[in-house]
Amino acid sequence: MKRLFKYALTIAAMSGLMAAPVFGQTEIHVLDVGQGLSVLVESQGHYMLYDGGDRNKSSFVVAYLKEEKVDSLDYVIASHYDADHLNGVVGALNVFPVKQVFSPDYTTDTRVFNSFHSVIDTKSIDRKQPKVGAVYQLGDASFQILSPSGDDYSDPNNYSIGIRITDGDSSFLITGDAESDSESEICKTKLELESDVYVMGHHGSGTSTSWELLQKTTPEYAVLSCGTGNTYGHPHIESMEKLQDMDIQLLRTDKQGTIIASTDGTSITWNVAPCNDYSPGDKNDKSAQPQKSAAAQKQSSGNTSANTAVSREYILNTSTKKIHYPDCNSVKQMKDKNKKATTQSRDSLIKQGYSPCGNCKP
Ligand SMILES: [Zn+2]
Ligand SMILES: [Zn+2]
Repeated sequence: MKRLFKYALTIAAMSGLMAAPVFGQTEIHVLDVGQGLSVLVESQGHYMLYDGGDRNKSSFVVAYLKEEKVDSLDYVIASHYDADHLNGVVGALNVFPVKQVFSPDYTTDTRVFNSFHSVIDTKSIDRKQPKVGAVYQLGDASFQILSPSGDDYSDPNNYSIGIRITDGDSSFLITGDAESDSESEICKTKLELESDVYVMGHHGSGTSTSWELLQKTTPEYAVLSCGTGNTYGHPHIESMEKLQDMDIQLLRTDKQGTIIASTDGTSITWNVAPCNDYSPGDKNDKSAQPQKSAAAQKQSSGNTSANTAVSREYILNTSTKKIHYPDCNSVKQMKDKNKKATTQSRDSLIKQGYSPCGNCKP
């Protein structure tokens, strides 16, 4: 709440506005925990921790919360019981008073799972699996439970507790490691899914981030939490291509460290600008070069006469400042409020700060 937003200030300074510093009423911190996930939500002195990263990051997460002046946690969500999410949760439960723990009703036989249950028992913390559709208040913000709908999954990732956080008009979707099966169930709930920010499911794995979920969510931003050179090859190219196709701006912890979104209920500001680096992970090569997507190559070959002087119509995304041809896939996904048709020349649009879409290559 007391953080200065360098990026917002830079933008204000560049545009010559004498804007006051931007202070949000709700902040979403996607902590840089390497390969894993940990999200801290703060609103008006209320705090929620969603996952806590793996064992080697547990003390970092606790230190981060202390630095953020967390004295107690209203909610702790353990999305599911994989080590890269649960270890830091146990660390936080050991240190901070916690009113309510949400976690799914399945069991595993791991050391971290046993520690999780023993700290809950020892400190007599209320724990339950929340019902899909239930809404909980956190300061100015509230969050709704989206998953899990089922109770018998072969892949534990599908037990992940998915939530959608809102503060005024701003919204954030977090689905843990939910795979496409669970994403499909989330879409069937008929709950509101449209979100400004999507914290990518399962570290950008190709088995999550289905078209179905993205089309119901239509985010402007995606935040990816994964570790540099991770052995899973996260993020996978399939997920990165979908973001590009839909013109979704990307922030990622492996390239940019901890990512903080702040909202006043109307607009969202970031501690760093989106990197829009859609290069997939490569488990065999830590210095993987960005790969050009197959979809982009296919589309560009059909547009060889694109850059002619003939006046023609473009579709602008006024939010991401991209220029598209009307038949670009991204145009179909674009929110109406961001869509604008124009016959202005490509050059003059670029002078106004627009850049050509990497897929349809206008
Ligand atoms: Zn995970
Ligand atoms: Zn998992």
